[in-house]
Amino acid sequence: MTRYAFVVIFALLIATLLLCSQASLRSIKPIGRTVCVFCLSLIIPVFGNMLIIGTGKRGVALVGYYMYYIGMDIAMYLLLRFTREYCRVRDTKTRKKRIVPIWLHLLFTVDVLQLLFNNIFGHAFELQEVDAYGKSYFINIPHLGVSIHRVICYSAIAIVIFVFVKRAIKVPMLYKERYIVILFTLIMGTLWQAYYVFGRIPIDRSMIGFTILGLMIYYFSIRYRPLRLLDSMLANIVSDTKVSVLLYGPEGRCIWVNDPAKELTGISSENLEEISNTVTTLFGDINSIPEAKEVEMILGTAPNERCYMVAHGRFSDRYNMDLGSYVKIRDITSEKERIKKELFAANHDALTGIYNREYTFKMISDRLKQQTLKDYYVASTYICDFKMFNDVFGREFGDAALIQISDWLKSYADDTCIYGRIAGDTFGSCLPKALFDQEVLEKDLANFKVKMGDTEQRLVIHIGFCEIEDGDRDPSVLFDRALMALDSIKDDYRKHVAFFDKKIREKMIWDQEISSQLDVAIAENQVVPYLQPIADTSGKIVGAEALVRWIHPVHGFMSPGDFIPLFEDNGMITDLDKHIWKSTCAILSRWEKTHPDFFISVNVSPKDFYMTDVLAEIVSDVVEYDIDPHRLRIEVTESSIMRDTEDKMRLLEEFRKQGFIIEMDDFGSGYSSLNMLKDMPVDILKIDMKFLGKSNDEEKADIIVKNVIRLAEDLQIISLAEGVETVEQFERLKELGCHLFQGYYFSKPIPVADFEELVSKS
Ligand code: C2E
Ligand code: CA
Ligand code: CA
Repeated sequence: MTRYAFVVIFALLIATLLLCSQASLRSIKPIGRTVCVFCLSLIIPVFGNMLIIGTGKRGVALVGYYMYYIGMDIAMYLLLRFTREYCRVRDTKTRKKRIVPIWLHLLFTVDVLQLLFNNIFGHAFELQEVDAYGKSYFINIPHLGVSIHRVICYSAIAIVIFVFVKRAIKVPMLYKERYIVILFTLIMGTLWQAYYVFGRIPIDRSMIGFTILGLMIYYFSIRYRPLRLLDSMLANIVSDTKVSVLLYGPEGRCIWVNDPAKELTGISSENLEEISNTVTTLFGDINSIPEAKEVEMILGTAPNERCYMVAHGRFSDRYNMDLGSYVKIRDITSEKERIKKELFAANHDALTGIYNREYTFKMISDRLKQQTLKDYYVASTYICDFKMFNDVFGREFGDAALIQISDWLKSYADDTCIYGRIAGDTFGSCLPKALFDQEVLEKDLANFKVKMGDTEQRLVIHIGFCEIEDGDRDPSVLFDRALMALDSIKDDYRKHVAFFDKKIREKMIWDQEISSQLDVAIAENQVVPYLQPIADTSGKIVGAEALVRWIHPVHGFMSPGDFIPLFEDNGMITDLDKHIWKSTCAILSRWEKTHPDFFISVNVSPKDFYMTDVLAEIVSDVVEYDIDPHRLRIEVTESSIMRDTEDKMRLLEEFRKQGFIIEMDDFGSGYSSLNMLKDMPVDILKIDMKFLGKSNDEEKADIIVKNVIRLAEDLQIISLAEGVETVEQFERLKELGCHLFQGYYFSKPIPVADFEELVSKS
């Protein structure tokens, strides 16, 4: 081969190294820069080598040798740096990247300098012209300087080899090739060079070996992707999943299956054809499924059925050449069961297993959105005294009761019904009218008994029904209406079924209307106290009871019966009472001069005690109007005292201490016993004739009244008879020892002005 052919080869090597260094620089890998400078550094000795081979001139050859030696120094130094990075050489103690020690820098610098000084001292090498292959070449005769240089370079290579060997031993099998190939190239390159150097071969081609080392370094640092490693990792992952995977070659032959696929088919051998055929027998022609789309397939029959997601797809290379295909089969049976269970738990009541409140409402509301359920009822059950039932018979029995009610509902329902437990003790249902039979229902409910073990207990259940009308959308409103209907049968033990009808609807509207108007009515004095006279035994008026009236701008005169029960229910009674107490104090204050001895009794509703500080409120009124507390009498009912009895008694005692007189209203209408009377801080007992007057057995009524009056007298309590309508009643009550009298016989409740006029006449 001619020297020019070598020049061309070396030029190509230089170009290759340049390209590699460029590519390394562009690489995003951190080692890119190191590889780049290493490849660039190799260009110097390669270029030097090219000059040596390509020239017949001494001067040019000399420059070539300098470049060759110095270039090798630089390349070796950079090779060490590369090795440190590539093999991740770390300090054993600090675990930090170890830097190239300073003495190595120095060593290479000194070597470069001593080589350069060869020009002056000639201690490193000299050139000798030889003839080879018919041409003249300059080989060098090494002296001490070059020997030192060689020791340094071979030492560096030895260090590199040592580090690579150590690393190659340490890393797992699959990583070894990255190190072994470079190591091998380095050793071969070095041996090749040694062969030229020590064999004194005129044309040294060893830089070809080092260039190959450069290329290898570039390839393994920058381009290399450990495909075998990736393969084995991917294969591991695929074997590890629960998904059955079958791979097919381009011609459609099964080439690989994972363990789950073997389990799925029940074939443990490596007979891929058989496994693949079994999959086709089980799932049919999977290729007919649209590509990349998972299709659900069910195998077997309930309860042993299993559910799978099946998909297939093709692999192709970037030139769109078919590489093969895969089939993926995922067993989702347990996943589906879990979702089903979770869904069930989210929508169903844990105790009874029927729908829970949210789901019942959702189902009904969904259906209402689709259609107007014109021929449907919404029903709410109400279990009477269920809290007491729970309390008396225990929670377990209570739960048993709820389960039996839900079972009973189930027995009524068909597909058209939606029903569920819409509160702790309330069940709700939406059912077609055709399914409703009042007679059967009443009969069932009249005999509803809860059984648990040997115990059997009667349970009173009421069911309210509400018709669904056009525009009804909100199930909770419908259920509320159904429950509202139950008010009408509250006190009728024979009836268990009630309907939300026009009357109830109108009452609902009425309640809403007047509740919203109370504030204004109080502010505008539409709400006023009427006074009903109270007389003594001589028939002389000595005081009055304040009884509220609402003179409504639209509805006219309204009696307490029209609004008191509602306000007692919704708590607004307290606003009204406060207003009446204040108005009464105002009247008493006006009477200070005209009727200083008159008293007025005011009513205190049981709710007032919970809604406000009654004592503070009334005392502040009395102070504001500067009146004697004696003249404002406080009427409380038995039911007020029945709850939190001790607290109430203490409060009433406090009232008395402040100088008020306490009256027990409607005595005998509630639950209090005569026995309790002795402990009650009460000054006056109001006995309601209405409870006795209509009694069939007047003689019995007479005995009761007589005894109550006597007992009161023994306890030094004044008795007042209410509802006295006739002179006979008045006379008889006087005879029995009653002290005070109130009733139509004297007067109906009348406006304050009328009362004042009445008093002035008498
Ligand atoms: P109550 O406190 O028992 O008041 C007596 C009721 O009996 C009054 O009915 C009165 O008009 C009526 N009455 C009086 N004499 C006779 C009679 O001879 N025969 C008959 N049949 N009835 C008679 P009214 O005024 O309709 O009040 C009804 C109830 O409303 C009162 O019963 C009381 O519980 C309540 N109420 C009235 N005003 C107020 C008030 O300002 N606050 C509170 N919390 N309740 C009030
Ligand atoms: Ca009263
Ligand atoms: Ca009364």
